[in-house]
Amino acid sequence: MARFVSLYSGSSGNAFYVGGKDSGVLVDVGVSFKSLCDALNSVDIPLENIKALFVTHEHSDHIKGIDTFLKHLSVPVYASKETVSYITHNSDIPTSSTFIELSQHGVDVADMFVTPFDTPHDSLHSLGFKFHTSDDRTVALATDLGHINENILKNLCSNDLVVIESNYDCDMLKYGPYPYYLKKRISSPIGHLSNTDCSSSFSSLIYSGVTRISLVHLSEKNNRPEIALAYADSALSEIGCKRGRDCIIDIAPRFQPGKMMIF
Ligand SMILES: [Zn+2]
Ligand SMILES: [Zn+2]
Repeated sequence: MARFVSLYSGSSGNAFYVGGKDSGVLVDVGVSFKSLCDALNSVDIPLENIKALFVTHEHSDHIKGIDTFLKHLSVPVYASKETVSYITHNSDIPTSSTFIELSQHGVDVADMFVTPFDTPHDSLHSLGFKFHTSDDRTVALATDLGHINENILKNLCSNDLVVIESNYDCDMLKYGPYPYYLKKRISSPIGHLSNTDCSSSFSSLIYSGVTRISLVHLSEKNNRPEIALAYADSALSEIGCKRGRDCIIDIAPRFQPGKMMIF
């Protein structure tokens, strides 16, 4: 059985666990080591289960805990060439740390085959990941992306679980407190994904067989879980589907683990 749990999600810090019961990997470590351990403890995942770290991109909410993490746990770090270069030049990581630049062909790690795909974001080189477990379960994860292109949709379709950003409500962002430059950055095609754009992918996802969707990286100021869910519900009802019956939709909380998905 595959397991996925969001440990922390949002601009204050991200960390996700993907794997099985006895081994798995972390995606991003944008929180302190203590916070990470607290979250793992609360969902009964021993630290030793973590066999590798995958990093989506170099923004601090995705890497700020990497120094202390690697001091406590010596596991390989997989990321794009540009992200590897950024981290190794800008973080106080142990000299013994192993960094591996991902190629499009993917890698075998912790009983899974992991394939990266590019995501459009205003970072050096941002990646999403597709995880294929040894018991043939698949998870696709795409967070921090300004829009969904054809290649991303192809990677998201036909998985058992899709973890996708649903960052902001267009009206809340438009009329909210953020300065103009930030509104422009967030809503640009290389910024973050709106509820509207996220939910517009649902018909393709559901038709391809996706039955679980986890919405992550919700903005604190420009979104609310109930609004993201309302967009999800309306996208499902347009194709005659219902949340809970045809597709499980979960929202990742900011400061604590979400629901452990086992499938
Ligand atoms: Zn982020
Ligand atoms: Zn980012």
